Amino acid sequence: MTQQAIDKEALRKKYIEERNKRLRADGNAQYLEVKGQFGHYLEDPYTPRVEREPKTDHVTFAFIGGGFGGLATGARLVEAGIGDVRIVEKGGDFGGTWYWNRYPGAQCDTASMIYMPLLEETGHRPSEKYAHAPEILAQCQRIGRQYKLYDNALFHTQVRSLTWDDARSRWLIQTDRGDAFTAQYIGLGTGPLHVPKLPGIHGIETFQGHSFHTSRWDYEYTGGDPLGAPLVGLADKRVAIIGTGATAVQCVPHLARSSKALFVFQRTPSSIDVRNNVPIDPDWFASIATPGWQQRWLENFTANQAGGNAEVDLVQDGWTDLARRIREQIRKLAPQERTVPKMLVAYEDADFEKMEEIRARVDAIVRERETAAKLKAWYRQLCKRPCFHDTYLQSFNADSVHLVDTDGKGVERITATGVVVAGKEYPVDCIIYASGFEVGTAYQRRAGFDPVGRDGRTLSEHWSQGMRTKHGMHVHGFPNAFFVQPTQGANLISNVPHNLTEAARTIAMLVAHARDQGHQQIEVTEAAERAWVELMLTSVGRMTQSPDCTPGYYNNEGQDPGPAARLNVGYPAGATAYFKYLDEWRRSGRFEGLAFR
Ligand code: NDP
Repeated sequence: MTQQAIDKEALRKKYIEERNKRLRADGNAQYLEVKGQFGHYLEDPYTPRVEREPKTDHVTFAFIGGGFGGLATGARLVEAGIGDVRIVEKGGDFGGTWYWNRYPGAQCDTASMIYMPLLEETGHRPSEKYAHAPEILAQCQRIGRQYKLYDNALFHTQVRSLTWDDARSRWLIQTDRGDAFTAQYIGLGTGPLHVPKLPGIHGIETFQGHSFHTSRWDYEYTGGDPLGAPLVGLADKRVAIIGTGATAVQCVPHLARSSKALFVFQRTPSSIDVRNNVPIDPDWFASIATPGWQQRWLENFTANQAGGNAEVDLVQDGWTDLARRIREQIRKLAPQERTVPKMLVAYEDADFEKMEEIRARVDAIVRERETAAKLKAWYRQLCKRPCFHDTYLQSFNADSVHLVDTDGKGVERITATGVVVAGKEYPVDCIIYASGFEVGTAYQRRAGFDPVGRDGRTLSEHWSQGMRTKHGMHVHGFPNAFFVQPTQGANLISNVPHNLTEAARTIAMLVAHARDQGHQQIEVTEAAERAWVELMLTSVGRMTQSPDCTPGYYNNEGQDPGPAARLNVGYPAGATAYFKYLDEWRRSGRFEGLAFR
């Protein structure tokens, strides 16, 4: 598609119109917290809870969260000779998001070779370019077994308080299972998307049929399994799915194949790029899996996404494609013209081109013209989570599948027997909520605790004006605590595990250093934290947060997130530069900015 063929002004106008349709004054408050009469939506359908005695002992390291962050950190600590690592996890096993999200079709959207942690260490060859959820969960379990992290883990356990005891240089950890144990160090890796939310639709509590959230899939009701066996329980059911985000895009094809009738309730269409999943050839894998291969792949993907030497593109997918297009547009500029405004125009041009292709793809696949028109996404690709799928759009060609578009308004009402849009009731037996997870709510609400650091100061007090850290990991006044998450670090959202595995390396190195030098405490100095925050404030932020973006969790539902959100950024020079900087910081052995006592 050439730039000349694109009417940019018309597109800009259309994007604003579509955004304005969706803006609502209640922002994040439009969603229902899953509690009270909805509390059963949070129950674990996968693993029975096992009774156990409360723990009152001491461990060197406790990690809150048994997903990729906890597993990678646990593994690196064990490698460094720190064996008594206790992972505390609210699910019934390791896996984090991959423990909960077992809906049919669940699959990683980032290539397995870089997405799945510790492939080289565990010797696992991914079966497909984009592995399905059961394989990712199995990799988590493999890491748990290989590094003996199961021995000390506490599952089905939610931390209720974390309190620093300065005199004894340790944290007191209390949980909903009556545990009250101590740890010299803690890691916090609770993940960004782990608290399901429900749409605040009028009458939602009155529905008399069956219902569940996608992150607690009810296979007992639907039949089938996470590997994709037909959902035979739905053969005589009229099924509604509310939401068309990344989750719905993956499970709709499965629901479409099995349900007697499927109604897909859409507020905003997702952009659906090609998936092109392929099996990984064992011979090819053997040829590339030479020592250090996964780190090389990680660095290459990040270089293609976020600056660096990107001459080769090992991964070659939808993420690197957009980045390549942006680079090509920028290359067309003479060196003296490479100013921020011109680069933003180049970025917009690349985006228009990409989105026009994505919209043309809808027309090429969906037979019914009116349905095709409604499935087109009218916003810049990174305003919402980009999706990639080769059978989602095709699902709407089946006679039993009905797209119920709400023209940006959302479902009007839920009754005892069905779902109402524009005054019309669609009677259904089952409603599946693909309505996502809490993002814009307070950290303490999502985590379920508010860490209490030195002198009784809480994290919410320390962060009342926005997040304050060094490297997104160290917080002044919270000694021996490590936050494992991307913000104020690389902030690489297209491959979140890369952020986490680098953090794991750092933590293991610091804890081993303190042990070897006989130190009891590690803490970032106030000056170093302040300097890092000031550096973060020089970041231009995510280019994705264009003011004309349609509402969603990427942009606080289109509402001004307040000045504190200015700190929800990454290293100004980009992810590649951040990882290089971090590597040098670690290698120096001086760990500048941290005080060891
Ligand atoms: P999302 O928050 O992305 O989607 C929620 C959906 O519910 C949206 O389509 C939203 O519409 C819709 N919705 C909300 N309220 C209403 C309403 N009142 N009426 C009708 N529709 C409504 O949740 P997901 O679970 O899909 O995805 C969350 C994130 O999890 C993804 O963005 C991604 O980061 C991650 N994920 C990753 C996957 C992977 O890597 N493979 C797979 C799945 C998820 P609207 O858009 O208008 O707000």
